[in-house]
Amino acid sequence: MAKNSKVFPALLAAQTILALIAAPAAQALFFGSDQQAEAYKHQGDYAYETQDYPAALNYYSQAISSLPYDADQALSGLYYVRALANDVAGNYQRATDDWQQAKNCDDKLVQAAASNPQAGINVSWMQATSNQLGLLIRWREGCNPNSPDYYSDVNVRRWPANKFPLRVCVDESSGTGFGAGSRGTIMQAINQWVSANETRLRITEVDDPSQADILVQRPSPGDIARGSGGRTTYDDSADSAGNRWIKQSQMKLTCATVDFDQMTGAQRNELYNLALHESGHALGIDGHSPSGLDVMYWKSPLLKLSERDVATIRKIYP
Ligand SMILES: [Zn+2]
Repeated sequence: MAKNSKVFPALLAAQTILALIAAPAAQALFFGSDQQAEAYKHQGDYAYETQDYPAALNYYSQAISSLPYDADQALSGLYYVRALANDVAGNYQRATDDWQQAKNCDDKLVQAAASNPQAGINVSWMQATSNQLGLLIRWREGCNPNSPDYYSDVNVRRWPANKFPLRVCVDESSGTGFGAGSRGTIMQAINQWVSANETRLRITEVDDPSQADILVQRPSPGDIARGSGGRTTYDDSADSAGNRWIKQSQMKLTCATVDFDQMTGAQRNELYNLALHESGHALGIDGHSPSGLDVMYWKSPLLKLSERDVATIRKIYP
């Protein structure tokens, strides 16, 4: 049996949280009644996208303070985005506090909806968000973002030693594949993990998808939750000791356009970041780092593995 603390990242690894953040039900509606908060939030979103996290935190905080204390629906969304910004800025405890604030707002909304069914609050959605946030907060309480690795915070799967070198196929077919430039970018990202643990991890590139241990494709509609850019699935089996051994893994990566030459620098970075994160899953890190400073954080913007990412993959393949 997995340790109890490992249940939460597995749940969160599912697209639930991503789907929830992508669908803040009536947030826009509320902001319509408070232009000031909306303007601050937009500035915060822009700062977040451009990775200026101190500015993002400042704008989100201004948006929060310009709203009345009982504006729970809008406040919930704002605490949510400020929590993310705090996480990727490395403010772990402040992020946890914001996740808790978001949950408190959701809980108040669920209670209010019971006495006022006319308010149009999507209770089941709000309850689901609150439940997920509760799991997230409890999980974070058992994690130490400053430990040398996050091995104990994730589920671990492994490729058996006799599978190396792993055959990686980046699909180039027109329907589900990538152009040559994107293929190179994706291989570079996977190779960053390999370089981090050269004595154990080896890969080789193959052209035939049917020969692949790790198959990389573009998603078909419905493959990936709204708000998420990638997804990795496994075909694996468990031995009698409960170790999970991977037989094949499939990475789905969205990209702005198949034609690499048409991509902006930011879009190329996005593809690289996504490939780097999903490669970590494909190699066996099933779950997410609690720290926003690691590539395996669930909304990491990073292009380079952290020391903890490296230490974790080395611990999985010692
Ligand atoms: Zn992930």
